[in-house]
Amino acid sequence: MSWEVVIGLEIHAQLATRSKIFSGASTAYGAEPNTQACLVDLGYPGVLPVLNEEVVHMAAMFGLAVNATVAPRSVFARKNYFYPDLPKGYQISQYELPIVEHGELFITDDDGNEKRIGITRAHLEEDAGKSIHEGLDRSSGIDLNRAGTPLLEIVSEPDIRSAKEAVAYMRKIHTIVRYLGISDGNMQEGSFRCDANVSVRPRGQTEFSTRTEIKNLNSFRFVERAINYEIERQIDLVEDGGEVVQETRLYDAANDETRSMRSKEEANDYRYFPDPDLLPVEIGAEYIENVRKQLPELPDAKQRRFVDEYGLKNADAAQLTSSRPLADYYEEAVAAADAKPQVVANWVIGDLIGALNKDGLGLADSRISAADLAGLVSRIHDNTISGKIAKQVFEAMWAGEGTADEIIEAKGLKQITDSSAIEAVVDKVIAENPGQVAEFKAGKDKLIGFFVGQVMKETKGQANPGQVNQILKQKLSS
Ligand code: ADP
Ligand code: MG
Repeated sequence: MSWEVVIGLEIHAQLATRSKIFSGASTAYGAEPNTQACLVDLGYPGVLPVLNEEVVHMAAMFGLAVNATVAPRSVFARKNYFYPDLPKGYQISQYELPIVEHGELFITDDDGNEKRIGITRAHLEEDAGKSIHEGLDRSSGIDLNRAGTPLLEIVSEPDIRSAKEAVAYMRKIHTIVRYLGISDGNMQEGSFRCDANVSVRPRGQTEFSTRTEIKNLNSFRFVERAINYEIERQIDLVEDGGEVVQETRLYDAANDETRSMRSKEEANDYRYFPDPDLLPVEIGAEYIENVRKQLPELPDAKQRRFVDEYGLKNADAAQLTSSRPLADYYEEAVAAADAKPQVVANWVIGDLIGALNKDGLGLADSRISAADLAGLVSRIHDNTISGKIAKQVFEAMWAGEGTADEIIEAKGLKQITDSSAIEAVVDKVIAENPGQVAEFKAGKDKLIGFFVGQVMKETKGQANPGQVNQILKQKLSS
């Protein structure tokens, strides 16, 4: 039997406001437990939530960026449940009337084609606190610093058909929220995480099957692994005559498996109702147009522009626009370089990113600035050095030895372009290798590589390769 996989993601992006969604307490990460929870976050009776306007602006930006409708009127609702990290006994969220609906984005699917994934909705809500078990003897602690932190929950249509597509979709959302500057997307700190809903159905079946929901996946790798594990588990189960039950599961990364956590609650278990303490959010058309005007260039548009304006390969344009700082670095280098944009792209993608990864550094900590990389690439373009010597110069730049010009000067790496100097070396190589010369003349053309190699060795790689080739061919055929 052939199975089709159906996946929908619910992504939680923590919004990058300085204060909480309904209180003035700080959202800064990593403070001493319970030092950043005010009376509102602690759920004291009689206190009132006040909406942080910034979150509305951020949600509207997101909505416009994914071609969605930004609702003229949205409503906060109480989602009631008991948990020790939720002192109020309810979470304030949006339910029937979310702020963003009917969006979409495009990913590259497993066959390399562009694929549309629908975004059902994105709604604003507050995060809960955290229960702490580690380091406590036979007891648990509660840290309410995170309580009231603003979240945007982004819910996809069940349009995703594989774990890889799920990762591509999640990466795209991650890129968009960071481009917009509405979330730092820090997955280690839990600022960007997702719940994956997974089901399988026999190919050809039109209805969806029962799904399970894997909670709180906080890395792209875990998303892929957890979904793949869950797909196999469900297929095995059904093929053995069993039935998938709707439930919430946890991914255990250490054992690479998902485990049942609790049976899935239904919406009516939460007794949702509009929060009487908060007014509906009403947004005028003018407000939305203002937000639209302030939107930065988005990843897809930037990628297309990099292809059109710089003539880059599509895959390179995709990689260079995967984050705004990287795209900015590239554009700064291109503007400063006297070289082909594709060559600059090759240096950024290959050498620069390679060096950053090797040293475990982010772009912000790059040892070579965009202007300095441009300086290096320009020296290849104007024939001061060959591409091969440039690798050596790059390493020296990375080691902090100076700019390309300084290093070329200090190490005497300037390319030899004086043809009489090259001719002298060519004559010497020809004189020293009579055997190879005879073989070459007898038709063994491949030996040209040997002669080029010898000349390069004599000149420590500094002879201009084009000139070497030309002079060698001319002398060997005379
Ligand atoms: P809830 O709010 O109870 O988690 P929703 O109906 O809003 O449920 O759906 C949550 C997510 O589950 C959405 O991303 C949706 O696309 C996805 N989903 C719904 N049904 C299925 C299914 N049968 N298989 C896989 N994903 C599904
Ligand atoms: Mg859910």
